[in-house]
Amino acid sequence: MISTMRYYPRWSEMLTQCINNNLKYLKRDFKSLANVGFRPKANVWIKNMNCFVSKDFIMERVKANLWKCKFRLLCAFHALLVLALPANPLYAEPQLVDLTHPFDETTIYWPTNKTFHLESVFSGRTDKGYWYESNDLTASEHGGTHLDAPAHFAEGRWHIDDIPLESLIAPGVVIDIRARAKDNPDTRILPEDILNWEKTHGRIAKGSIVLVLTGWEAFWPNKKLYLGTDKPGDVANLHFPGFSKEAAELLSHERKVAAVGLDTPSLDYGQSKDFPAHQVFGAANIPGFENVCQLATLPPKGFRVIALPMLIGNGSGAPLRIVAEIGP
Ligand SMILES: [Zn+2]
Repeated sequence: MISTMRYYPRWSEMLTQCINNNLKYLKRDFKSLANVGFRPKANVWIKNMNCFVSKDFIMERVKANLWKCKFRLLCAFHALLVLALPANPLYAEPQLVDLTHPFDETTIYWPTNKTFHLESVFSGRTDKGYWYESNDLTASEHGGTHLDAPAHFAEGRWHIDDIPLESLIAPGVVIDIRARAKDNPDTRILPEDILNWEKTHGRIAKGSIVLVLTGWEAFWPNKKLYLGTDKPGDVANLHFPGFSKEAAELLSHERKVAAVGLDTPSLDYGQSKDFPAHQVFGAANIPGFENVCQLATLPPKGFRVIALPMLIGNGSGAPLRIVAEIGP
């Protein structure tokens, strides 16, 4: 007769791995459990997980993993199994992609904004013998890879420190408009771009983060090519793609996305004079990620975006570290 309480001291959150570790106990119990048909609710206490697991669950996991055990027994070299593990989807690690441009003296800012400046306070060996480095930094909120808070263009909407994490960590999609943008730096993301994407990949789910790949990253950090001008203060000659007002309305009101982003300096295209995309997204409390990169390395969907800005109290924008997590 089996005990309904057994401690598996090495059974931790990696359930599959732990089943292997405890296989000799589990196999014995599995046999017993199989013979105890009249106690289908028998539970096993899993110490490290602080919970009971049902007999059925254990049997299912053991069955699912028996082939691995057999392989182990057949294989004289356990090292081979270890080598095979990384290819096993059960052990696959998510792939992380950094979508952030580094901040340094070459980082591109809006022509009227203060650029990034790092000033050394101290770098060297102190008179006490230990090494010490420290810098001061100055920069506008809006430059490099950064987040536009809704309050940037919408009165009474979220500042940086009001934005909930749900708007910043969410499933992502990538809409690719490179084919059109390469011939027209003044092009805009249109509702058709969104609807065409949905024809292939399905409707964009509420709460998604929509990223647009224009190909503008290729010009970074050349200001003349990326912005259209390299003259400080020159906003008349800005040329790069951005969201149309209509696309912003579709994403905000109908798809109710969590956030949007793109690989150009602004949510609105360079020649915009009244920034309708900023206004529409801002009014809907939708943060915008600007100057993101590496979007071409992402699949059209099936990844998670983690976009964490510097948490500036009352900020209208902030430097952003943004990554995508793909799979497994
Ligand atoms: Zn901005």
